[in-house]
Amino acid sequence: MIAFTSDIDWAPEAVIADTIEIFEKYGVKCTFFSTHYSPVLNSCNRKLFEIGIHPNFNPLLSGKEGRAEDILFEIMELHPDAEGVRCHSMLQSSLLLHMFAERKLLYESNHFLPYHHGLKPFKLWNGLVRIPYNWEDDVHWSYGYDFSDSKMNLEDEGLVIFDFHPIHIFLNTENKYRYQEAKKFYNDPDKLLELRNKEVPGARDLLLSLLDYCKSSKKETFKQIEIARSFLYGGGI
Ligand SMILES: [Zn+2]
Repeated sequence: MIAFTSDIDWAPEAVIADTIEIFEKYGVKCTFFSTHYSPVLNSCNRKLFEIGIHPNFNPLLSGKEGRAEDILFEIMELHPDAEGVRCHSMLQSSLLLHMFAERKLLYESNHFLPYHHGLKPFKLWNGLVRIPYNWEDDVHWSYGYDFSDSKMNLEDEGLVIFDFHPIHIFLNTENKYRYQEAKKFYNDPDKLLELRNKEVPGARDLLLSLLDYCKSSKKETFKQIEIARSFLYGGGI
């Protein structure tokens, strides 16, 4: 079962729009985990796209003052209908899980098991559904893998859940050096386009080939909320 997710990580509007357009072109579903107010994301086609939240609790780890509850409240105010969460940097804690359940979220997608097979959702003690995921663009290059191959079995009977960041789709990122260079121009899409990787396969190339595979083999794709509901209430997806 294949699903695509995307943590938008404060990408500028043109970069988010680019990712949305790609998924629309192929008619493939994607769950976006949102970090901020984005008009282009808010107006996306909800038949194809789901919006979950992507709160950033990292400042609390580096000594900044604040409360996790306020950070969650702020992002939930922007997306009151969100039913799922993945934290920035996949931050996990039972305290956070408790807060998510209190806020009536249905699922969380923080548990990352790179390249593992046979992944399944499971129910946590507080009723939340945990949907693990097994592929992420920046982790792929951290392993030193190239982007001509996702190293995933697309026919796996378990969950095959990809996480692509709009910035890496836009840059066609293939390694950390390109990203480090481009990061200085994070909010300048024209400059980012100049810095796009055109030399070797990158995140954009890989995404396009995966979407092409889904479309040409008529593979059905799923939003995270569909996976969570199917797991909870049965009846298949
Ligand atoms: Zn993130």
